[in-house]
Amino acid sequence: MSEDTPAPRSNFITAIIDEHLENGRFDRVHTRFPPEPNGYLHIGHAKSICLNFGVAQDYGGLTNLRFDDTNPTTEEVEYVESIQADIRWLGFDWEDRLFFASDYFGQLYEYALQLIKLGKAYVCDLSPEELRQYRGTLTEPGVDSPYRDRTIEENLDLFQRMGAGEFPDGSRTLRAKIDMSSPNLNLRDPVLYRILHAHHHRTGDKWCIYPMYDYAHALSDSIEGITHSICTLEFEDHRPLYDWCLDTLGIFHSQQIEFARLNLTYTVMSKRKLLQLVRDGYVSGWDDPRMPTLAGMRRRGYTPEAIRTFADTIGVSKANSIVDMELLEHVLRDDLNNRARRVMAVVEPLKVVIDNYPAGQEETFEVPYFPFDRENSPTRQVPFSREIYIERSDFMEDPPKKFYRLAPGSEVRLMNAYYITCTDVIKDQSGEVVELHCTYDPESRGGMSPDGRKVRGTLHWVSAQHALDAELRLYDTLFTKANPYEVPEGGDFKDNINPESLQVVTAAKLEPGLADAAVGESFQFMRQGYFCLDAVDSKEGALVFNRTISLVDTWAKMQK
Ligand code: ATP
Ligand code: MG
Repeated sequence: MSEDTPAPRSNFITAIIDEHLENGRFDRVHTRFPPEPNGYLHIGHAKSICLNFGVAQDYGGLTNLRFDDTNPTTEEVEYVESIQADIRWLGFDWEDRLFFASDYFGQLYEYALQLIKLGKAYVCDLSPEELRQYRGTLTEPGVDSPYRDRTIEENLDLFQRMGAGEFPDGSRTLRAKIDMSSPNLNLRDPVLYRILHAHHHRTGDKWCIYPMYDYAHALSDSIEGITHSICTLEFEDHRPLYDWCLDTLGIFHSQQIEFARLNLTYTVMSKRKLLQLVRDGYVSGWDDPRMPTLAGMRRRGYTPEAIRTFADTIGVSKANSIVDMELLEHVLRDDLNNRARRVMAVVEPLKVVIDNYPAGQEETFEVPYFPFDRENSPTRQVPFSREIYIERSDFMEDPPKKFYRLAPGSEVRLMNAYYITCTDVIKDQSGEVVELHCTYDPESRGGMSPDGRKVRGTLHWVSAQHALDAELRLYDTLFTKANPYEVPEGGDFKDNINPESLQVVTAAKLEPGLADAAVGESFQFMRQGYFCLDAVDSKEGALVFNRTISLVDTWAKMQK
């Protein structure tokens, strides 16, 4: 990967791997990322991707991409494609190891027959409701199914007929024969196969029985020779079943290791919840820049480097916690600060006429894109003319003390251009300021003081006749509460949606060089924040920029 590859990570997972390599349990590291194609990937998945691919890279090992497509009713081809695009964008490569759990349906079926022959699985006729009742609770043991002692022959016959489509949905299941009184509910004869007459996006109508997740996952790991099967904490109680499947069949035994999933403040992370936001129109799609999806974050202007750094920064642990959104934003600002070209854009324009600047004259200033590193910075030509725009908020007719920007009679520096002094304020009938008149000091070219005279304020600006019109989309958090699930009785997480999460500015003015902005490039609009071209809605002549994130403490910096 790129030159900024972090130092090999060291955590409780690498400690387990080290032990395995030392004691000879494994002589290699092979991980997998197993998304279910029922939605777009989100920042939580990114944590898992960085971990699985990162750990394997550190050990010179391999990582497979395996779609866990065992649930035919919710999976869509769109998701299969977006997931691959997002992992590539993050900077990871599964090479030729793209797999689908559905590729193994035939093999999983054979293994099921084997379990039946071993007397370790049986066909059960209890209904889903009866299954629940017989299962018991955390405090009460379960009850054996009346079908538990069917003969191997009967089980083989019934299971094959289940597969042949003889029985309706929900009428029978194949269950593991383990222990109905186990304190672990997952071991109380869990269902391995259910009947589901449903079309599958890859296997079509070939199957009407589908394997359950725990069974399919353990066997898929084994089939692929995965050494370390890293998953989230909620599967900890499933590990005994994972182990049971592999041990009972006596096949290659991958080690399941659980870590805490990522939770972030001010957002939700479940694909099912995100799907609701998309379906109900709360956002414009999976790639809405307010979404915590990788597609949304990419469109918002996040870089893969920032997300990888974030994943390394939070690390992995065994304890569930909620990470502050501010940490993610801090990492993002750090990353953008190093890469974003500094340009001038006026969000809310106020026209300024410079009366002593000759009409029809124009000149250009050569301005570095990275003013903090003038020596090495590339530059561009910024045009200047008699009429310019400044930020409306940079003028006050009746300013308080310590307002160092423009006011009647006051002098400020136009960044990289000239000193100007405000001489006149034009208002419309309603009293709103619509135009300012100023004079400039020709001796202050480049924004340099002609005679040692100091000005406190430095404003960004754009030449009116050269400016590009643009729409800006300014984002805030998608939810108003750090924990969106915190709702009164009978409420819903959607009640906490932030009605002001998107603010659209339609008449911004940009410096002309931004006509060449490319999708994926980050810019700092000086004093305003980091922006990027919107990959979906921006068109030539109708530019749209997204604000990735605001600057921290903008005004404090300007005062220096
Ligand atoms: P969701 O609830 O969002 O649908 P999921 O766990 O069902 O999440 P999968 O597609 O099954 O989504 O997940 C693929 C992999 O990503 C799994 O190994 C899962 O553990 C991991 N993963 C999912 N969400 C997170 C998260 N928030 N933090 C870390 N890893 C995650
Ligand atoms: Mg899932």
